[in-house]
Amino acid sequence: PSTQQYIIRSFSTTTTVKSTPVGGSGRLNGKVAIVTGGGDGVGKETSLLFAKEGAKVLVVDIDAAKGKSIVTQIKDNGGNAYFFTADVSKANQVKEMIDVAEKNFGKLDILFNNAGIMISEDDDAISTTEEVWEKTMNVNLKGVFLGCKFGIPALLRNGGGSIINTASFVALMGAATPQIAYTASKGGVLAMTRELAIIHAKQNIRVNALCPGPLRTELLDKFLNTPEKRNRRLVHLPMGRFGQASEIAKGALFLASDDSSYVTGTDFLVDGGLCAAYVTAE
Ligand code: NAD
Repeated sequence: PSTQQYIIRSFSTTTTVKSTPVGGSGRLNGKVAIVTGGGDGVGKETSLLFAKEGAKVLVVDIDAAKGKSIVTQIKDNGGNAYFFTADVSKANQVKEMIDVAEKNFGKLDILFNNAGIMISEDDDAISTTEEVWEKTMNVNLKGVFLGCKFGIPALLRNGGGSIINTASFVALMGAATPQIAYTASKGGVLAMTRELAIIHAKQNIRVNALCPGPLRTELLDKFLNTPEKRNRRLVHLPMGRFGQASEIAKGALFLASDDSSYVTGTDFLVDGGLCAAYVTAE
């Protein structure tokens, strides 16, 4: 890889980075990507992978410490990244996020609306409070809407691009271990994604939903905090294990890259066969 140096100018800092990251195959060379929730879990693994594959990555998270540490890792590997703090449920912050990507990197090609929350008090319809409902909807559904609202004009200015919205397998199947607000928010992401894909299909913008199965990330670990709770789910998983965030990142890479040039409006499952299963093997 080349070690040629160049300068990125940003609002607050000037950073020198190497021009070619270590170890990738260049599937995203020349692309600019935003990854929301990029500080942990799926967003973290995807930010690292996108950068390794040659993208310039704006890592966005509400947690600045986590997000900045991912940017440091990317730069240590010779990649190009910048961090921006934003709460995806706040319109002004999401608008600024898009502006920062365009100002720092000159354009936007890939928007990964991935940030999401699952609140432990989220339960069935009887016991879930309005507060839990509204908070979940604001981040998981409105956050994706705002990303698209401000991101699509940037993609149009660029002549097109790829949007990936993180939904979930729970948008496709019901569970007797409910998180009703979370499930409803992910169903909304799936429906909204499908419609956006159709609206923008002739404008060279692809919009896909990425539907992970249950993963070993902080989001699920906090919720499944006993062996009983974990085993109640594991019995339904064909492979007998939870997924890894890095396995979802590879799905995001496919949807982000030109390899998926004829894929739009899909609910792209990366779930270890969960949604195909009736009875799993002993
Ligand atoms: P995670 O909790 O490991 O990471 C989420 C990141 O998003 C964190 O860094 C957090 O600080 C950030 N974040 C939270 N609220 C934010 C906000 N308002 N604005 C900006 N950033 C915010 O979660 P994860 O497991 O990596 O989940 C990523 C996505 O995948 C979510 O949309 C989640 O719903 C979805 N998902 C996860 C699973 C799973 O089992 N973990 C399964 C299906 C779908």
